[in-house]
Amino acid sequence: MVLKVAVYTRISRDDEGDGLGVARQREDCERLAELRGWDVARVYEDNDVSAFKRNVRRPEFELVLSDLADGLIDGVVAYDLDRLARQPRDLERLIDLYDERKRRMFATVTNDVNLSTADGRTMARVMVAFANKSSHDASRRIQRKHLELARQGKSSGGPAPYGWLKGGRKVDLEAAEHIRAAQRQLLAGVRIGTIRTDWQRRGLGHPRQGTKRTAHHHLEHMLTNPRLCGYRTYRGEILLDDEGQPVIGEWEVINTVEEWEAVCAVVVERKQKDPSRSFARKYLLSGIARCGLCHTKIRGQVNKRWKPGSKAATFTYQCSVVNGGCGQVGRVGDPVDEFIIGLVLAEQRQKAAGSAVDPVEQWPKLSELAAVEADVAELTRAARDQRITVSTLLQLLPDLERRRDELKLERGRFNKERQQTESLSADIGEDFRSLPIERQQALILHSLSAVLIHPAGRGKRKFDPSLIEPVWH
Ligand SMILES: [Zn+2]
Repeated sequence: MVLKVAVYTRISRDDEGDGLGVARQREDCERLAELRGWDVARVYEDNDVSAFKRNVRRPEFELVLSDLADGLIDGVVAYDLDRLARQPRDLERLIDLYDERKRRMFATVTNDVNLSTADGRTMARVMVAFANKSSHDASRRIQRKHLELARQGKSSGGPAPYGWLKGGRKVDLEAAEHIRAAQRQLLAGVRIGTIRTDWQRRGLGHPRQGTKRTAHHHLEHMLTNPRLCGYRTYRGEILLDDEGQPVIGEWEVINTVEEWEAVCAVVVERKQKDPSRSFARKYLLSGIARCGLCHTKIRGQVNKRWKPGSKAATFTYQCSVVNGGCGQVGRVGDPVDEFIIGLVLAEQRQKAAGSAVDPVEQWPKLSELAAVEADVAELTRAARDQRITVSTLLQLLPDLERRRDELKLERGRFNKERQQTESLSADIGEDFRSLPIERQQALILHSLSAVLIHPAGRGKRKFDPSLIEPVWH
């Protein structure tokens, strides 16, 4: 689903000197929206109304608020915070809407503030309070101060995130090990939901162990936070220095860049997948098993005749007409699972014994990425030195940034695959049955692309392994 945003423009008193007419604001905002991959639902334009004077109603600003509340738009793009809200009252109404729903988008061309993050909202309050009280030079100074601290790689204050000790500089060894273990699970195919349940049970994820619940997106953030590999973020994005390289914080790291990128790649890939696939698979061979007659995917089904204590099977693999199959093939589940697990483990042990780990390969596109990053840095510098306009910058930047992000994702995938292969061989020794179901399935899929279940004759009771056909890679 493409997100729809409002572009909000307004002339303010000091715009004339900057040549920032409504048309240029709009153009820059629209480019920014395009760059983020958002659709502009509508341009909201208040003409010549000062957001600074009390009791001046801005009809289009009011409309932005009500359209956000009604869900007609998913976010707002403005030139800067000044144009959107100069009164604390207006800002608070906007912030309420962002607090209410976490997924709302926000961006300004000057990138002075980001209301979609908690830090950004705090920042916005400070800026508006200052702009409202006196000149907005003061707020710019504060903003510069914050940015200055960030550029030096200093922590932003506040409580230390999970994984670090008080002060945020030294690693909390125990918590860090929990984070790394969870990341390994994630790489191995375990879903965040499964890890979250496990962490909640063990009281992990909070500096002080307790009963607090961890939200899904919170855990995701803990496992993918750029801070883990030392990257300093500013308003929710990785801060780059003048050379276009990430600013490195002055705290101890928990991940190498490669490890961190691999984890991010897994999360991104999963989000891109069809969400309907994210339903929990309860049975080992669901979606791996296929009907030997019609080749449709087979899923596990609870055996309705099973009761506690009875000898009936707990579940079966059944070709189902509902899923577009022939409905003619079915098999009691447990013996099929046992048979396949036995085969796969034997094969993987044999392979592990026979092959040494590959020598460390270099990612082949390292220099291409460096070149793209250098181009981005050069353009950004040129805009800062006013050798080119922001509008030109925004015309040239999207393609380069897209390419850079593609390459980074590719590097992440490369690292992910290497680490998955390594962790796979480490896991074969573990007790297969004690692994989470997704992990078990990943191990199966590493050896097999499918398992065909062929029809058994009528009245045949005994499990016949010759009718179960593993399809090896
Ligand atoms: Zn079938």
